[in-house]
Amino acid sequence: MDRPNLIYQKSKSGRKGYSLPDTKLSENEILNFIPDKFRRSSDAELPEIAENEVMRHFVGLSIKNHHIDKGFYPLGSCTMKYNPKVNDKVAGMNGFKLQHPLSPNAVSQGSLTIYRELQKVLCEISGFDAVSLQPAAGAHGEFTGLQIMRAYHLENGDKKRTKIIIPDSAHGTNPATVTSVGFTTIQVKSNEHGVIPPEAVAEVMSDEVAGMMMTNPNTLGIFETHIKEIAEIVHKGGGLMYMDGANLNANMGIFRPGDVGFDIMHFNLHKTFSTPHGGGGPGSGAVGVIEKLAKYLPFPILQQRDDGTFYFDYDRPSSIGRVHSYHGNFGVLVRAYTYIRSLGGKGLREVSENAVLNANYLKESVRKYYDLPYDSICMHEFVISGSKQKQIGVKTLDISKRLLDFGVHSPTNYFPLIVPEAMMIEPTETESKETLDYFAEVMAQIAKEAETDIEQVTTAPHNTPVRRLDEVSAARNGDVAYLDV
Ligand SMILES: *Cc1c(COP(=O)(O)O)cnc(C)c1O
Repeated sequence: MDRPNLIYQKSKSGRKGYSLPDTKLSENEILNFIPDKFRRSSDAELPEIAENEVMRHFVGLSIKNHHIDKGFYPLGSCTMKYNPKVNDKVAGMNGFKLQHPLSPNAVSQGSLTIYRELQKVLCEISGFDAVSLQPAAGAHGEFTGLQIMRAYHLENGDKKRTKIIIPDSAHGTNPATVTSVGFTTIQVKSNEHGVIPPEAVAEVMSDEVAGMMMTNPNTLGIFETHIKEIAEIVHKGGGLMYMDGANLNANMGIFRPGDVGFDIMHFNLHKTFSTPHGGGGPGSGAVGVIEKLAKYLPFPILQQRDDGTFYFDYDRPSSIGRVHSYHGNFGVLVRAYTYIRSLGGKGLREVSENAVLNANYLKESVRKYYDLPYDSICMHEFVISGSKQKQIGVKTLDISKRLLDFGVHSPTNYFPLIVPEAMMIEPTETESKETLDYFAEVMAQIAKEAETDIEQVTTAPHNTPVRRLDEVSAARNGDVAYLDV
């Protein structure tokens, strides 16, 4: 049968990727070792191919796509840093990998110790008092956090509070979460410096507001400078403060959200704490809360007996319930713990310092060629605008496609919404000065091409395995079995 798959096309009858020692037995004699019921009636349709060709096939496939182990990936807000392989190695140890989430506590004490230790270090990093490791992604953490907010108000008999204040520079998942939880959004505008002025919050605060969600640093890559005043306004009005902490990469060892008035926050362990991500893979949106909200966290809660052993406590009458069928994505938790322990407190602070330094260095390097709508010191990322290029017929999408020709992934495009033709650039701390300089040179060249050789940009990419895709069908009706190139 003609199977349209590249590796099958490479197949040659009788070719093998292995050789077995000569046993002096005939094929039939060998087959006799296999009971009848396990024998095939016809040969399996497998490619017949040498080992080196198998390697080439799969390595070839892996480099057709862009990924962090192949090239620079400055996708803003996604923190596409290099993920040390030691994290995978530890998560892949049999003791972790083969553990079933419903194993009895008696055989899970090692894994539960990691669970507890990770909760402790996350509390230390963030300044919160308790952490749930159940949520499986950032948006899932937001969902959990707002459920906690609702449970808190309901338990206080405060049924009117159904509104959430959200800045116009918030991450897109924030308003989506508000809606999915059944609340409604009140939007507040950031000022000319890209931050939220306390007066804007005071104006909309009322006894119908359940709380405020702030992304910090916000999606412009700018640190919200008025958190304390804003938290005071919201708390005085009876609301709670939620921080979207997905982008903690600029904050570690420098700023602790739990210390300045935030009551709830989610982390994205698959961003800051170095789990490979993209393509919707497993993640962790751990949620931290202050002491008075700990009783609402998802159950079961990990507890420790006097003899030091761990167990799960299901008797949590105020809990919002489970948000994960087990205890979260454990492999991601092990990776985060390994990452944190291998760097230590000082190392994490250095990560943040270098993430901020790299972003500011790159911002200064590319601002000559593109508009910079908010000109201030940035945190882990910054936003430039392709408006200047748009006027001469080059869209931001074209610039992003052209970047692929140089082996660079696109920045996040057209977000945040408050910047026209936005390109959100996050280099992360793991890139060298040479890589940053290379990116700046490429961005300069594309800006020049836009003026002198416009088609080169508007018809890009030119040297990728596939050219421009219908992105909606590519995502919805992907054909992952065959690539005819
Ligand atoms: C990535 C991100 C999220 C969403 O996280 P997911 O794991 O993709 O659900 C939320 N907020 C911010 C600021 C983010 O960068």
